[in-house]
Amino acid sequence: MSEQLTQIPFMPAADISALVKSREVSAREVANTMLDRIAAVDGAVSAYNEVTPELALAAADAVDAALAEGGDAAVALGELAGVPVAFKDNMNMVGTHTTCSSKMLANFQSPYDCTAVRRMLDAGTIPLGKLNMDEFAFGSSTETSAVGRTFNPWDLERVPGGSSGGSAAAVSAGLATITLGSDTGGSIRQPAAFTGTVGLKPSYGRVSRYGCVAFASSLDQIGPFSHTVRDNALAFSAIAGKDPLDATSLNLPEDDFVAACDAGATGDIKGMRVALATDLLEQEGLDPRLKAEVLQAAATLEAAGAEIVETTLPSTKYGLPAYYVLGPAEASSNLARFDGIRYGHRADDAEDVLDLYMRSRKEGFGPEVIRRIMIGTHVLSSGHYDAYYTKAQKVRTVIKNDYEAVFARADVLLTPTTPDLPFKFGQYDDNPTAMYLADYYTIPVNMAGIAGMSVPTSLIEGLPASVQIVANHGREVDLFRAGAALEAASAFPYASVPVASSGLV
Ligand code: GLN
Repeated sequence: MSEQLTQIPFMPAADISALVKSREVSAREVANTMLDRIAAVDGAVSAYNEVTPELALAAADAVDAALAEGGDAAVALGELAGVPVAFKDNMNMVGTHTTCSSKMLANFQSPYDCTAVRRMLDAGTIPLGKLNMDEFAFGSSTETSAVGRTFNPWDLERVPGGSSGGSAAAVSAGLATITLGSDTGGSIRQPAAFTGTVGLKPSYGRVSRYGCVAFASSLDQIGPFSHTVRDNALAFSAIAGKDPLDATSLNLPEDDFVAACDAGATGDIKGMRVALATDLLEQEGLDPRLKAEVLQAAATLEAAGAEIVETTLPSTKYGLPAYYVLGPAEASSNLARFDGIRYGHRADDAEDVLDLYMRSRKEGFGPEVIRRIMIGTHVLSSGHYDAYYTKAQKVRTVIKNDYEAVFARADVLLTPTTPDLPFKFGQYDDNPTAMYLADYYTIPVNMAGIAGMSVPTSLIEGLPASVQIVANHGREVDLFRAGAALEAASAFPYASVPVASSGLV
């Protein structure tokens, strides 16, 4: 294999596309390199639910053919052309199953493309397959997947986070350059933090959810995972924007996210106001080493010319309880369609239609899904609706107002992404709700509908440590600028992930 091809798994997207467009390597060679690597390495990581060699090679050949022809199609190829990608298994892509890592949808064939997937494919990317996740995106470790575990590439005894654990692990292990995940309460940022990848939860409405199986429709967003902040901006630029097929998608200004990264990477953050919420850093349960990462990140940005603003976010502690009312309420409604008739697994030998619904759902859903449905139907039931659902909606407004106060004085807010470093498999088996705390710092961002990004900053005892940058609704440019500045200063060694040098490459 040529020297250049061996570098592909950890190469920035723009470098891959430059090699492909200059025809130093073909997109087909890139595809084959990645397919071979998946065959060699994914046995240890188990990021993929389904690998799609035919789709990958067809997309690669289309790029190579356009370049050979040299017409308008070749000119239109941008920095994602020939870049290997993969998608969380709750996003439809024609030619694949969309299982949500659930028995309920084990045989479900994608009838159409998810808009975000389609936009990535239209940019000339090479689709390698579909990625493992917590069942229906409920979880923080990918352990609730009915397919099986995904392993953290930095330590195979630890979880990759969740629910987009496969999307995170695939990038981390060099099994895709960019992947898409979804984030309802932290499912992009938390696994990004656990795997040393960059993960973006965009502002609510900025990316279409059409074709992504709904969890909680007032909170869900699709976003990218990548090794670098700039690659993340490339993918985000491709998928963002109004989609007539998703009424919640918005027409926001087409900011130049890549330029924001390039500015940040060269240290151009003078005058940027960076908030630190002192109460969040004193929160019980926060690993002091992760608190130190946030303070270090603030010092780094300050040294580059940013101004530090001290603030508090007292409503954060209400985020988790309110989320576990609103999230399950919406999920229980969204999951009503999986009844064995309209969608999903159908039980054999039912006595009547009610029995069919009950058996199909009992057989198709795993325990965490059933737990969420039970919570959701309870809080929506007529006797409890006001006490839980209405109250949680009010808490949501309080959280939103808290952030408004912060962003009146600052451009971005720095917080931990997670309270802990990646944990071991089975750590929360006896107490599943204790795992919910993993999203303490991420959930309020979804509740407020604003944007958040996890950026890896260092290794602590061989495990990735990250910080979260939060920006106001529609202000992803600030995330990319600050994120790129932080990345440039911290130089997180993503290519030193143990599976990269395990002899499996
Ligand atoms: N871990 C959270 C949950 O279990 C968030 C999941 C998500 O964002 N999809 O609900």
